[in-house]
Amino acid sequence: MDIDAGRGVPVLKLVRMAHKQAPRIGDLIRAGERSFSFEFFPPRDEAGEEQLWQAIRELEPYRPTFVSVTYGAGGSTRDTTVRITGRIAAETSLTPMAHLTCVSHTREQLEAVLDSYAAVGIGNVMVLRGDPEAGPRAPWTPTDGGLTYAQELVELTRGRGDFSIGVAAFPEGHPSAASLDRDADVLVAKARAGAEFAVTQMFFRASDYFALVERVRARGCDLPILPGIMPILNLASIRRQSELIGTDVPPEIVARIAAHDGDPAAMRAEGITIAAELCDELLAGGAPGLHFYTLNRSKATREIFAALNMSV
Ligand SMILES: Cc1cc2nc3c(=O)[nH]c(=O)nc-3n(C[C@H](O)[C@H](O)[C@H](O)COP(=O)(O)OP(=O)(O)OC[C@H]3O[C@@H](n4cnc5c(N)ncnc54)[C@H](O)[C@@H]3O)c2cc1C
Repeated sequence: MDIDAGRGVPVLKLVRMAHKQAPRIGDLIRAGERSFSFEFFPPRDEAGEEQLWQAIRELEPYRPTFVSVTYGAGGSTRDTTVRITGRIAAETSLTPMAHLTCVSHTREQLEAVLDSYAAVGIGNVMVLRGDPEAGPRAPWTPTDGGLTYAQELVELTRGRGDFSIGVAAFPEGHPSAASLDRDADVLVAKARAGAEFAVTQMFFRASDYFALVERVRARGCDLPILPGIMPILNLASIRRQSELIGTDVPPEIVARIAAHDGDPAAMRAEGITIAAELCDELLAGGAPGLHFYTLNRSKATREIFAALNMSV
């Protein structure tokens, strides 16, 4: 793989590579089997990369429907997304999905990244607007020559190749959406532009997820929506989540976790139990699968699978 550092965009030389044809995630989900998937982020250094590959190898026997790799804000982590996702396609039995955001990219750069994905056999792309480089709470300003909303990137991706496209969904509404109804309009617009499935932001109340699904169905849209799951394993992560991404951690969950203050093992076990309860409720209520935010570690996800009596 060759990165065109001059343009600051990960661009592969279009060498002919022997890679298997990637299954389309949209088709796999529509085929009706429950989807299980794992999300990773591009590591920043060698130690992080080792940890990631260990997690990938430990989760591979679970035969997930797909695994995804997020797209960071800066140049080098973006190259890493292309490299890691391509390696997953070439060296594992897993179906990878690469994320892509509009942040700091012109339209031409976005097209170049999509071409890089296609060149390494990545046929599935999670298409996002991304957050401002100053953080999720900063005001969004589009890049000159770039795109403003994820919907535009869905359209661009659809026109660029035979990609199966996923988009983000927000059970509590996107933090800057005018209302839950407006938020649902945006998700439906992304589906009509060509998205085949959605994955949600993490959340803690199954009722928020089911209400989102209902809002979307009420608009005549049958987009499959995969719930995003992230267990809370300590008090610091509760604070981080609510401050960073605006997910509301219900007081009853804070109380259940806080009850084990001073006993990290018991606190972690409670966090796994809470996540497994949520997964159970979601699947029983008809969710088409579960998407786990792994933070590049396999342990919590394996513990939730064990709690759900789902084995390798
Ligand atoms: C599953 C998942 C994966 C993610 N992966 C990444 C990642 O890899 N890298 C990363 O940087 N971030 C990632 N994010 C975070 C995401 O980029 C942010 O949440 C971002 O703020 C919103 O992205 P979006 O694609 O939903 O944007 P959009 O759908 O464009 O929505 C952004 C805001 O604009 C509003 N809006 C959209 N369209 C219109 C319109 N036509 N008119 C008026 N308002 C409109 C929406 O209501 C919303 O408030 C992920 C989020 C999720 C849920």
